Order: sequence, then C-alpha cells, then structure tokens
Amino acid sequence: MLPVIFELLAYSMIAKLGMDNGKVWGMRMEQNENNMFPVEDALEMVLMFGGKGIISYANNSAKRRLEFGEDLLGRHISEVFPNTFQTTEEGFETEYPFGEGVQSLVAYRKNRTCFPVETRILQKTGDSGQYICMAIDVLEKEHLNREVEQVRQEAEQAMKVKSEFVANVTHELRTPVNGILGNAKELLAEDIDERTERTLRVIERCCSDMYKIMNNILDFSKLEAGKFTLETREFHFRNMMDYVKKNHSNKITEKGLEFFVTISPKVPENIIGDELRIVQVLNNLLSNAQKFTAVGKISVEVLKTAQINDRIELFFIVKDTGIGIDQADKDKLFQSFSQVDASISRKYGGTGLGLNICKQLVEMMGGSIEVESNKNQGSTFSFSIWVGVKEEEAATSQDDMILSVPSMQGVPSVEKQDDSRIYGTRENRETLERTLSKLILCVEMENWEKAEMFMETVRQLTMEAPSDVKRVILRLKMAIQKENYDKIMSGYEQISQMIQ
Ligand code: ADP
Repeated sequence: MLPVIFELLAYSMIAKLGMDNGKVWGMRMEQNENNMFPVEDALEMVLMFGGKGIISYANNSAKRRLEFGEDLLGRHISEVFPNTFQTTEEGFETEYPFGEGVQSLVAYRKNRTCFPVETRILQKTGDSGQYICMAIDVLEKEHLNREVEQVRQEAEQAMKVKSEFVANVTHELRTPVNGILGNAKELLAEDIDERTERTLRVIERCCSDMYKIMNNILDFSKLEAGKFTLETREFHFRNMMDYVKKNHSNKITEKGLEFFVTISPKVPENIIGDELRIVQVLNNLLSNAQKFTAVGKISVEVLKTAQINDRIELFFIVKDTGIGIDQADKDKLFQSFSQVDASISRKYGGTGLGLNICKQLVEMMGGSIEVESNKNQGSTFSFSIWVGVKEEEAATSQDDMILSVPSMQGVPSVEKQDDSRIYGTRENRETLERTLSKLILCVEMENWEKAEMFMETVRQLTMEAPSDVKRVILRLKMAIQKENYDKIMSGYEQISQMIQ
C-alpha cells in the first residue's frame, strides 16, 4: 500500500499525493487508490519545499513552465513567488493562508517574466517543515476550457448531423420496404399456388425483420442524441398484456414451447405510462427468449413491488429455458451493438441493439434491468419501471413481496435444469417423440423451414445421446437439408426405435 503523505483536496483535479520508490504519485478526485498516477506528468505544477523554503521536488510541468528545468531543485520558493514569500534567516516569511482554499498568485519564470496562477499550498499533516504547492496557469486553464468547450460543441453538432442522417435514411428505407410488403400482401390475397405462397411469406417475414432493424436503429439514434421522449397516457394494463401475449403465442407454441403469462392481482387495472414503450421492452425480451429457446417454456410474470403516493413500481420477469448466457458475457449484454459471439449473430441474426434500447427505455421509466443466466440453463431477464395510477386505485392497492423473486436477491432465479434436456429421461423421450412427429408433419407439408427448426430442437434434445443415436440424427439433419423425403423417413424410423 502506498504511504500517503498528504491527505488533501487539491484545487485542481489531484486529490491525494503519495511517495513511493522516490516517485510522487497523485490520485484524481472521484477515484480510488488503485488509480494513483505519476504526478511527474500531471498537467498542473507540483512543488514541494521544506521549512527553509528550499524546493526539494518539482514535477515536469513546474520545471518546464517556470523554465528552470532541473535547476528548480534547490532554489528558494521566493524565487518562484517573490510577492508572497520573503527570504529570512530561518527560511521564509509569508502571509499565505496555507490550507485548502485556492489563492491567486503571480509566478515568476527564470527570466523574471511572470504569469498568473491559482495555487493551493498545504502543510504536510503532523509535520510543520514540509509544504506542497499545486499551481495551475490561469491563462492556460482558460485556453484549455475554451478548447474543451469547442470540442464539446463540435461533438454535439456531429451527433445532431448523425442522428438526422439516420432518421432520414431509415425513413427512406421504410418507403421501399412498405412497397414490397404491400405488393406481397396483395399477391397473398389472390389465388396462388403453394410454392408462390411460401415465397411470399418469406418476403413478408424479411420485410418485418427489416422494419424491426430500422426501428431499432432509429430509436437508438434518438436515445443517443437525447431526443427521445416518453408519451404517457392512461391505459388498461391487462389489455396491454393480452396484446403482448397474442403477439408471441403463435410463434412460441409453434416451436413446441409452453408459454405462460401471470399478472399479480395487486397490479391495478389502469396504469398511466408509455404503453408503447413498455410493449417494446416486453416484445424484445420475448423475441429473444423465443429465438434462443428450443425446448421447454417461456414465462412472463408481473408484480407490483412498491408504491409512493400515486406512483407504483411494476416488476416484470421474463424467463426462458433456452441456451442461456455465459457469466463472462453477461456484462456485454446491455451494451450497444453487442451480441454474445459472432456464431450467435450468424445463426440467429439481430443487430445487438435491442437490449441496450430496453435498458435505456427502462431507465427513462425510472427503473432498471437485470439478467440472471447460466450457459445451457436458461435466462431470466427482470426489469422494473415506475408508472402512475389514478387516485382511487392508489388508495386501495397493496404490494407484492419482492422477496419471492429470487433474481433480486442475487440468487440465480433460473429454475433447475429442465429434465426434458437430459437424454434418456421420460420427459426427454416424450419431448423427442412430440418434436419428431411435428417434424415429420412439416416434411409432409413440405414446410422445410419449420422442419429445420424442429430438427434443431431434436439435435439439442439428443446432445447427450450415445454416438450411434447422434450419427442417425446427423444423417436425418442432412436429409432434411437436401429435402430427401425417403432418407428422412428411414432416419425417422431408426430414431423412433432407438429412443424406445
Ligand atoms: P439482438 O437484436 O441482436 O437480438 P439484443 O440486444 O436483443 O440484440 O441481444 C443481444 C445478445 O444477447 C443476443 O445476440 C444474444 O447473444 C444474447 N441474448 C439476449 N437474450 C437472450 C436469451 N433470452 N437467451 C440467450 N441469449 C440471449
């Protein structure tokens, strides 16, 4: 541990000074002792002198600005501040009020030209014979401040230009995407053959994916430019949750996953908040849950966890039994453009903006967002927001016990591993059989995209299977990719027998 010799609050950014191995170290304000930096290269001038007034230490800035160079050591302090310090037989005489206050002095260079400085000179605690002086060149400080202000203004302007550009581009992109989508919809309404319909559905899905990406980029740039505002109004909370549920039910259950939405009875009927943005956060978390879960279930739970007058805190928990997230990757999650790894973005797509937008939205609504997850053990995203309630509801409602939500206690809230993932268990066999028969149904309907989706689920369910089973699974997967009906059927029969 560094021996700190001066405990002080400097006028400048240096808050503490210490000496170690003959070197002087400083610590900036609002930092901790792990961030000590060598004062040698600090912007401010630092001098140390003893009771006799002889300078025993000067950093590079002092040596350079006072133009003494190495000559500064051994000089009397009165040579630098002749108006403030006078030489006496004992050492020096001064009326300088040592302490934490900032004093304006005039510092003299070696060639006797001078410049104004702001100083703080302190006496070392418990030792009357040691002084430390920190000084900053006022003119240079003003010049630096002007430069900083100019850089800040330039950055602000660049940010404005960028967000206007993003807004324009996304708007311009929307028009052609709308055109494609509208035409695809028109064709879908006509009497068309199956193949054309499949192609049109793909076009429709691509357009809606593009929409999502454009909206994310637009939101992100607005949030970044500080131009994002919430639109608050009263709405029926359970209707909103019904809408969210309907929006995701099909996609989730089509994958063979279970889906539950529970709302505590303590959550009031009517809420005052930005409905659209709450839905946006839920949509993003549920789309991710669905995207990254092949087996098991997805659930949403809403609790009312606190109340201050007519403001209440709502707590949302979105849980899945999907691929989970490595401990090491959790910190990256809420950063912009961050996806856990490149293989994930290749396989599942996405821009890595969704969770960052969720975090910013939730924070704008006075709350926070967290994740509890482990690799292969599912994820639990939870977030809180503050919303308004009408007077009569404010008077009657009570809170849910937050203690019942393990993720808030730092205990992983992910439920114990789903048995259906453990090869050989009854749950695993049943889920496998169900998934295989859905897969075959898709093959018979020539819905190859969905067949591949169910194939992925089968692969995950048999990850721990013996190698002969895995070999057949691999052959089945290849047969599906090649749309080879006969090989698919023989693979299916083989697996069905093997898992009995
Ligand atoms: P994207 O729009 O690309 O999905 P997000 O910010 O929503 O971006 O998610 C970032 C990354 O976080 C994802 O690419 C994925 O790696 C990880 N992630 C998010 N939700 C989940 C989840 N429920 N399970 C596993 N990984 C997840």
